[in-house]
Amino acid sequence: MTDSATAPNASDVLDIAIIGAGPAGLTAGLYAARAGMDAAVFERVSPGGQLAQTEQLENYPGFPEGTEGFALAWSMKQQADRFGVRSVSEEVTGVDLASDPKVLSTPFGTHRARAVIVATGARPRKLGVDGEDELAGRGVSYCATCDGNFFRGKTVAVVGGGNTAAADALYLARICEKVYLIHRRDRLRATAVYHERLAGLPNVEFVWNATVARLEADGDGALAAVAVRDVNTGEERTLAVSGLFVAVGTQPNTEFLGGALELDAAGYIVAGEDGAASVPGVWAAGDVRTKALRQVVTAVADGAVCAEQAAERLSL
Ligand code: NAP
Repeated sequence: MTDSATAPNASDVLDIAIIGAGPAGLTAGLYAARAGMDAAVFERVSPGGQLAQTEQLENYPGFPEGTEGFALAWSMKQQADRFGVRSVSEEVTGVDLASDPKVLSTPFGTHRARAVIVATGARPRKLGVDGEDELAGRGVSYCATCDGNFFRGKTVAVVGGGNTAAADALYLARICEKVYLIHRRDRLRATAVYHERLAGLPNVEFVWNATVARLEADGDGALAAVAVRDVNTGEERTLAVSGLFVAVGTQPNTEFLGGALELDAAGYIVAGEDGAASVPGVWAAGDVRTKALRQVVTAVADGAVCAEQAAERLSL
């Protein structure tokens, strides 16, 4: 399950194993390879992480007109490949980080490495309302750029008030007849520029101070309506929609660590600006670590810092 030209053998001990091929992991790979390290990036599905599912990025420096997330992710992968980082298409399902070398388990076997960088990112959080799991893929979605096209010309709702919800609403407003933006407070958490743009669109309706109370399905088991409850008055209102895009934040992909590293209460790996995690020889980069600003630009910075730290430690 590896790129054959670069596959590590079972007997190999990698210098640096990087778990996750989003912006943080790919940048860590680039810097590790350029520092002369034998490094491999492990990825369970395809490279790019959340970036690959981002339609348009306007705040990554160097692209005055913005850039497509998928294209940027693919360029990052090609750049890391060019310097000889190995790619391993295997999901890391367990770790032994206390041993020397450290051990990663995947469904295909084990891999050993002298240092590990965890860059597994985060995934969308669920709403937690009844019927959400049953209606996922039948009207309920967690990725507007992946699924928005199925709702072309229809009425949809987005729930959440952060940058993801705002970007999703803007994207959907271009292809859908109408977009409700349901938020539990009376102002968005999202960057001001989003608010201004959304407020100027005739087919976007803000549903302030409201939470999703219920999901209603039609006779075929597809989403037909969302009941929203006013958080101040308790009054309910039903919105007839074919699609509901849930954008209520993310949760870190740290379950596979099985307690091997210190996590905060929300499950993020406790690590500072140098990325050093609670076990020597292990670093955390990107959205998976405790940090104030989760952006592509901070993820790539993390990847670079962690790879440099790891290479320096291994060179001592
Ligand atoms: P986020 O910033 O954590 O926002 C989550 C939103 O969901 C908040 O508005 C929150 O409400 C709301 N929420 C949370 N739980 C809820 C629940 N159970 N029911 C209803 N609403 C709920 O998450 P995000 O928007 O996914 O962004 C994640 C990170 O990626 C952020 O750092 C963000 O800046 C970054 N990002 C950046 C861009 C960009 O810059 N273009 C685009 C996408 C994401 P409250 O506001 O009341 O807390």
